[in-house]
Amino acid sequence: RNGLAKMSPSIRRLLPIFDGIPVYMRTRINRLWKKWKEGAHEVMETYEKTMTNRKKLNVLVFIGFLANEQKLKLAKKSDHGGPLGELLQWSDLLASLSIIGHHLEVTTDKDSLRSVLWKYKERGPCQYVNGTRQQMDTIFTDIMGLNILRQYHRQFLLNNRCRIRLLDSFGTHAEFTTKTYFLQNKRKLSGPFSQRNPWGGHGLDLRQHWTFYPHSDDNTFLGFVVDTEGVDEKRQKTLYPSALVYGKEKYMWENAEKPIGVLKKFVKIHATVADLEDVNEKKTNQSTVFDDVKNHGFLNSQEISELLDTTTIFFGLGFPLEGPAPLEAMARGAVFINARFEIPKSRKNYKFLAEKPTLREWTSQNPYMEEIGEPHVITVDINNEKELEIAIKRAIELKPKPFVPFEFSPAGMLLRVALLLEKQETCGKIAKSKRWPPVNQMKIFKTVNSGDSCEMTCHSQKMKCESSYFPIINSPSLLQRQFGCSSTIPDASPFAPFNCTVQSSAYLFSCASRPPLEVVRVCPCRDYIPEQHAVCKACL
Ligand code: UDP
Repeated sequence: RNGLAKMSPSIRRLLPIFDGIPVYMRTRINRLWKKWKEGAHEVMETYEKTMTNRKKLNVLVFIGFLANEQKLKLAKKSDHGGPLGELLQWSDLLASLSIIGHHLEVTTDKDSLRSVLWKYKERGPCQYVNGTRQQMDTIFTDIMGLNILRQYHRQFLLNNRCRIRLLDSFGTHAEFTTKTYFLQNKRKLSGPFSQRNPWGGHGLDLRQHWTFYPHSDDNTFLGFVVDTEGVDEKRQKTLYPSALVYGKEKYMWENAEKPIGVLKKFVKIHATVADLEDVNEKKTNQSTVFDDVKNHGFLNSQEISELLDTTTIFFGLGFPLEGPAPLEAMARGAVFINARFEIPKSRKNYKFLAEKPTLREWTSQNPYMEEIGEPHVITVDINNEKELEIAIKRAIELKPKPFVPFEFSPAGMLLRVALLLEKQETCGKIAKSKRWPPVNQMKIFKTVNSGDSCEMTCHSQKMKCESSYFPIINSPSLLQRQFGCSSTIPDASPFAPFNCTVQSSAYLFSCASRPPLEVVRVCPCRDYIPEQHAVCKACL
């Protein structure tokens, strides 16, 4: 047998895969290794029982978006900008999987994927070689990777569908997971920009979608680690307050003259815009937004961390949505000014979100940070001059201590990934007694306000909606008790179970869906460990 997974915080285990991953990922793993080791120690001290006695798994990590590298050039872009969030999360996932002691096969291109799959196929499913079980237990990939598997390795995908864990930053809602439901309802689910669903339609259990932030109770929170290398709690900020503007490409500064103008009245402004070539370009550009701004260009992790160490305000312009940078700023004692959206942004009214498989509404640039609030975060309409001035003055006074929520620390991520790999079951029926989170942690609530989702209902109880409980509460007898119905009818609807209606499609169970006014939903909720949303208190 594969035996037990042993904690192994030695970077040597990862060296063989270093040649195959982008420099940005290698650098990040190396830079944070000391923190990972400390995290491994911490998690073993505090959660020893949970961290031992875990099965050692064979884990395939196929980073699909790098397999399209010729087209996308994302790895190349990563040393001077581009979307880094994904690479950062893959780096942290690799570090976590290796430290918690699983066997890893990592591929970033179609050829090496083929040879890894061949190696396992040759040995046949569930064969034992030198006492080691040769079967893929878990497959981490992304949507591009899933498409490659679908195209070139159909049979493998058919056999292993339920073992897939899909990295999906913004998450996927029930309405978008099957092609049929989406096509029947696409008008209702879309706005003026697009009625397409190019990133959805995979028909997976929604818990197989692992996200960047803990923003969707239907999905699973994977997360990442916040870089705290060199954070010094006693370090003083500069004498004169300063701001670093969050926006590493020029286009992110479009239409920002007004708020940047207000900011200039109070602080010295720094920037890390990668594509602002030179002063000449500034002149032809007409815009005055970069006047008196000290642009550092793209900085490496150490340089940006040092800049954040002395920064008073990290200033959001409304885009990018939900990147990692605001957490990094908070970890270095800067106050994040988070742009509030007076009209929440969603696929129905915002082009960037128009093809994302979610109906989630963003109330600000970073809703997770919005929840954290003062002294670390001020969420404000940056286009309202008066409010913005008050927010900036307040941010200068606050002087918060560096802070990282536990779920974004190495110990927090190691604990979460270890538990999810060991306990989250998405293959086949499982006995009630083996369910995780345990069934005895379930609390059932009905929606109180019309139009509320189960997420909203559970959150109002300081709980999470736990979608794995839905099949348990989807019973005529429970609805009869809850609503006094004499009989129930089945319906394939993302709001079911509701009133006297049971859910007839397992794909459509949904924590997030907001029903029409007359509908009262039944919601399964569970508690969670503070600063660790993915894990309930009795889940350890
Ligand atoms: N970053 C960097 N150098 C810079 C600007 C940003 O290394 O000059 C890093 C930043 O520290 C963060 C990452 O880029 O770790 C991604 O940042 P962002 O929040 O902008 O998210 P993205 O949109 O790239 O996912």
